[in-house]
Amino acid sequence: MGPPSSSGFYVSRAVAVLLAGLAAALLLALAVLAALYGQCARDPSSEMQHRGGPGAAPVQPRKQKEQPPTPKPGPARKPAVAATPSDWRPPGPWDQLRLPPWLVPLHYELELWPRLQPDQLSAPALRFTGRVNITVHCIVSTARLLLHSLLLDCDSAEVRGPLSPVTGDATIGRVPVNDVWFALDMEYMVLELGEALQPGSRYKLQLSFSGPVYQDTWEGLFLNLYTDQGERRALLASHMEPTFARYVFPCFDEPALKATFSITIIHHSSYVALSNMPRLGQSEKEDVNGSKWTVTTFYTTPLMPTYLVAFAICDCDHVNRTERGQEISIWARKDAIANGYADFALNITGPIFSFLEDLFNISYPLPKTDIIALPTFDKRAMENWGLLMFDESLLLLQPEDQLTEKKTVISSIVSHEIGHQWFGNMVTMAWWNNLWLNEGFASYFEFEIINHFNPKFPRNEVFFTNILYGVLKEDHALVFRAVSMKAENFTETGEINEIFDLFTYNKGASMARMLSSFLSESLFISALKSYLKIFSFSNAEQDDLWRHFQMAIDDQGKILLPATVKSIMDSWTHQSGFPVITLNVSTGVMKQEPFYLGKVKNQTLLTHNDTWIVPILWIKNGTTQSLVWLDNSSKVFPEMQVSDSEHDWVILNLNMTGYYRVNYDKLGWKKLNQQLEKDPKAIPVIHRLQLIDDAFSLSKNNYIEIETALDLTKYLAEEDEIIVWHAVLLNLVTRDLISNVNNYDIYPLLKKYLLKRLMSIWNTYSTIIRENVATLQDDYLALMSLEELFRTACWLGLEDCLQLSRELFRNWVTHPENEIPYPIRNVILCYGIALGNEKEWDFLLSIYNNKTKEEERMQLAYAMGCSKDPWILNRYMEYAIATSPFTFNETNIIQVVAESEVGRYIAKDFLVNNWQAVSERYGAQSLVTLIDIIGRTISTDSQIMEMQQFCSNVLEEHQRLSIHAKLQTIKQENLEKKKRNARITAWLRENT
Ligand SMILES: [Zn+2]
Repeated sequence: MGPPSSSGFYVSRAVAVLLAGLAAALLLALAVLAALYGQCARDPSSEMQHRGGPGAAPVQPRKQKEQPPTPKPGPARKPAVAATPSDWRPPGPWDQLRLPPWLVPLHYELELWPRLQPDQLSAPALRFTGRVNITVHCIVSTARLLLHSLLLDCDSAEVRGPLSPVTGDATIGRVPVNDVWFALDMEYMVLELGEALQPGSRYKLQLSFSGPVYQDTWEGLFLNLYTDQGERRALLASHMEPTFARYVFPCFDEPALKATFSITIIHHSSYVALSNMPRLGQSEKEDVNGSKWTVTTFYTTPLMPTYLVAFAICDCDHVNRTERGQEISIWARKDAIANGYADFALNITGPIFSFLEDLFNISYPLPKTDIIALPTFDKRAMENWGLLMFDESLLLLQPEDQLTEKKTVISSIVSHEIGHQWFGNMVTMAWWNNLWLNEGFASYFEFEIINHFNPKFPRNEVFFTNILYGVLKEDHALVFRAVSMKAENFTETGEINEIFDLFTYNKGASMARMLSSFLSESLFISALKSYLKIFSFSNAEQDDLWRHFQMAIDDQGKILLPATVKSIMDSWTHQSGFPVITLNVSTGVMKQEPFYLGKVKNQTLLTHNDTWIVPILWIKNGTTQSLVWLDNSSKVFPEMQVSDSEHDWVILNLNMTGYYRVNYDKLGWKKLNQQLEKDPKAIPVIHRLQLIDDAFSLSKNNYIEIETALDLTKYLAEEDEIIVWHAVLLNLVTRDLISNVNNYDIYPLLKKYLLKRLMSIWNTYSTIIRENVATLQDDYLALMSLEELFRTACWLGLEDCLQLSRELFRNWVTHPENEIPYPIRNVILCYGIALGNEKEWDFLLSIYNNKTKEEERMQLAYAMGCSKDPWILNRYMEYAIATSPFTFNETNIIQVVAESEVGRYIAKDFLVNNWQAVSERYGAQSLVTLIDIIGRTISTDSQIMEMQQFCSNVLEEHQRLSIHAKLQTIKQENLEKKKRNARITAWLRENT
């Protein structure tokens, strides 16, 4: 799947809502089905028609967009079904998460018939019927057959065989099916057979079934409703990863159970049907009402896992081109195709395929690739073999995207998904515990691909900003989330969904990058080539990958490792966290210790006695030195010694390819500081970023003094790289600082200190904004960093920034065609409102009401929270809870106001005085998030008591307890922050 969005996790917010809603329906269905199964097993008919009767589970529509937002739920959980005498089953293989190894699927003949008609665009009633014949090989004799299936009704089930080994003919035998029942917890369909299947024989399971199509939830088969050419339209698509194929057809839904698939889709003649393979043929079919339907069949797929099966039925247009004989088509709304929005993606796709084919020396095995832009797809993107799916915002490039990061985002995600055609589709991880073998490598190759086509792309800086920064912030010794997990630690299906996270993607990509850095790129690629070749159309474990790297190492004599690749890499992938490497430049002693959040003395005794085998690439005075290894808790490196009288400096972790943080002794930091003040450019940009980020993170977590980090900012007047400024501002001018009025003593000092240093970079970029904003077009780092720079400049009260905000805002209000440059639009809108009054606010509200795109509406909703007039903010919250039908749907407005510069106290009072209405509008659960924001200033027990008193009046017992614990934590954190801020203030006083 596509890499996580900045919000992190992939767990669908719809799932829990859906399943909660379905619990009752399922209970009912279960009772009905229990009665029907006998009939199901007895009924030999394989009639494809949907039986509308009692077998059809009455399914409630899933969450609609128009409903008020609900808080993000935890991982998906199955509805608990009480054991009743009629459905009670003894413990058995259906209680296990993994399928028993009795049968191996070889081939699926799958036919699906969703009843989507162009004139019936309402989702709730839409259902599909299906039929699947699965040829299986029996390994262990069994009279009980388990397949995955969830939310499907079984209409008939038969088992034919044993099949003739010569002809594969199924007519010779038939195994009676006595009972069919569903084990809901582990999502199995169980067939109780009248006689045992024989090991070594093949059988054909013939099942017909039906199920619901959902809208606005992207699991299994789902519907997208959208507007094209001025008309409402619908399209149907599928998403199976990781465990949703079982929502669409009964199957052996594990990644190692690869099979071939012959797929047939029955659809309305006005739609086109797409699947993994090219179309084989088309015919016509009549339903019982005499309506005609088109039957599209597709060529048989290569061996692949169920999670890559894909379909789409749509009324889209496409553009196409041929690359090395492979047909590549991009499908999208007709309007988008006509306007050329798909052209950018089309033009990059073919060359990326060719580059990877050449790099790995393995041809892409399918004759075609379709890529479809779905109007809404919350999985972002999915690499289904031969039928890639994207949310259209991540694939289509519009003219107004010229000044956004869109081009790089599209290139990255397209590269990621094409990378999966090798990592994932061709070679699949043996099970989900090693998902990083798919996602880590697909994420790593995004950067290789972009860099290949654009050698000037600042890949190290972008890797740091997009990948490392986020995961290093989350990872630590006690997070208990290793990149590679033990399969036996998974006990519920929901846990599989949870691992599509930062650790799998970002840490996984960092693992690949670190490997490449110490093996050399050529050895890295040649090992991957042999790994991909050997495991093509098959599955691999993490150890298989290590073995191929080891073979590559053993085949040459140049690169020597201190241990096997497996021992080196297991130390990184099997434990959580990362080491802090400390170099004493006076003695040359280097040591490692685990990184803890908020380290306390003797913390290392608590857990984590393990060490890492750490590759240390390093530079001295700007020159790259040879690789050394820290394979112990400490070691001496005389070559790294520097004396106080010399002008030398040393930096460890060249290009930040190692997954660790670096600390130095006092002298080491001092030397670096001196160099920054003398000639910062002698230190490469990526290392200026590294010094800032490592130092602030280490100081925040008690590894070094905050003053050491602050010292590194003294040189900033000379810093002209906006990405380094970005890192400084993220670390120094935090949101807490901005919105805490208790920080009155720090503000004037910070203002004086930063403005003095900021002027040069400000002048550079404000001139570009005023005079030639188009030159920013391909400057990815600037596009990413400008907002933070402008936000800080205005917050610090830089008159030129406020002036520019007034100008740009006024220009836009009077002539809307004078658009505010996208990279700073948030800041300008915010200051336009903050510096304005009711008139400006009402104007923004009128614009808001006319916008339909969620992203634009969110932007305006946040800007309206920037007002400094208490009564305007109060009125804003009144509007949010009072207007009906709800005007503000995108976000919780109380939260927006609470997060603004002056809004916290107003939001708090509003919340207390209007709790009933707020909870009706946003749900009682929203209080938990609100407390997080409002709590940012809590530092005394009486403040806690005040909040608690309010909470105890309005919350349930269990919610009260969690809020209480939260408030205590917040208070503790705030006391820490207060101490830290006092030291920053003292340091600033000394240095301004
Ligand atoms: Zn992916």
